[in-house]
Amino acid sequence: FPSRLPNVGTTIFTVMSALAAEHKAVNLGQGFPDFGCDPALIDSVSRAMQAGHNQYPPMTGVPALREVVAQKIEALYGKRYDANSEITVAAGATQAILTVILSCVSPGDEVIVLDPCYDSYVPNIELAGGVPVRVPLTPKTFRPDFGKIAAAITPKTRLLLINTPHNPSGTTWTAQEMQQLQDLLAPTNILLLADEVYEHMVFDGERHESASRYPGLAARSYVISSFGKTFHVTGWKVATVAAPAPLTAEFRKVHQFNVFTVNTPMQVGLAEYLKDPAPYLNLPAFYQKKRDLFRAGLEGTRLKLLPSSGTYFQCVDISAVTDASEAEFCQQLVKDLGVAAIPLSAFYGNGFDQQVVRFCYAKKDETLLAALERLRRL
Ligand code: PMP
Ligand code: GLN
Repeated sequence: FPSRLPNVGTTIFTVMSALAAEHKAVNLGQGFPDFGCDPALIDSVSRAMQAGHNQYPPMTGVPALREVVAQKIEALYGKRYDANSEITVAAGATQAILTVILSCVSPGDEVIVLDPCYDSYVPNIELAGGVPVRVPLTPKTFRPDFGKIAAAITPKTRLLLINTPHNPSGTTWTAQEMQQLQDLLAPTNILLLADEVYEHMVFDGERHESASRYPGLAARSYVISSFGKTFHVTGWKVATVAAPAPLTAEFRKVHQFNVFTVNTPMQVGLAEYLKDPAPYLNLPAFYQKKRDLFRAGLEGTRLKLLPSSGTYFQCVDISAVTDASEAEFCQQLVKDLGVAAIPLSAFYGNGFDQQVVRFCYAKKDETLLAALERLRRL
């Protein structure tokens, strides 16, 4: 039978993690921490299980979790969402993104994505029968080009996807850029999916520019966050979607027949744990130290550091080291030096190669030092 996704193979993250394991390499490819989470979070989930929170929760998510998330968004970004009608718990951001797209994109609708983008976006749009319209961010600096975005808008444009802090580049949108986006969308009915899974990883004292801060954006946005990133538990797959009530109502229609509910004890445990803001408020300092350690180690090598103002990713320009493509370089790196990285071309529709690769620094200091010792041989 005809494939629904003829162009999709195994994701680059799976491929590179397998190669890293095969070559016993230091895996700075796939984005996940190699250290544990706060034991207090484990205790909190464990207590929830022991207290009997093991049956289906409400379809929309455990009320206490939705409420504490609404309070957190209000405290951080000044926007009050109604916990009952505007916040939904999803089984990870990946499920949330697919569900948003299925709930608002009809066959033939155009959806703008900004390349390089997370690899699930375009296949998700295709599954909905939508038409992906890929608009590049500026090469190597990864800023939104509003002229190009404006030129891509047509009467068929239904949805725009943005991601800040940005995977893979590690850049963050500025207030001015968010304002420009708000102005650009003001005369349109275009909806916005703001993928903010790295919202708590913004460095150098800068603030996270959530779409929820901008009334003209919040009114048309699904704002997505993921506990996997924030609390070092990528395997837990619990996320939240904040959106105005009419958008949330449509989201929930798809959600209830997609996963119906998300696992109960983790939601109860997270609700309790989130009462203390310290763990997420301390996250920027925690990751900034790792970023600085990793960057300092690469100073003096021929790998040219690009800015990393957010996420846990560091991109480097490899053009002074090799003429090889990003993909070839990553293959050689894992085999010859024993360090895994991700080619940025994997995040572009046309395989655009700007000789930039991505490292993940969500690793123990000893892991980073082991990788640096090898990378300094380049
Ligand atoms: N969006 C982006 C930009 C990501 O980097 C990730 C994590 N790989 C996700 C979404 C998916 O997050 P989750 O693990 O919660 O599904
Ligand atoms: N988000 C992670 C990354 O960009 C990987 C998630 C996945 O393996 N799909 O590396």
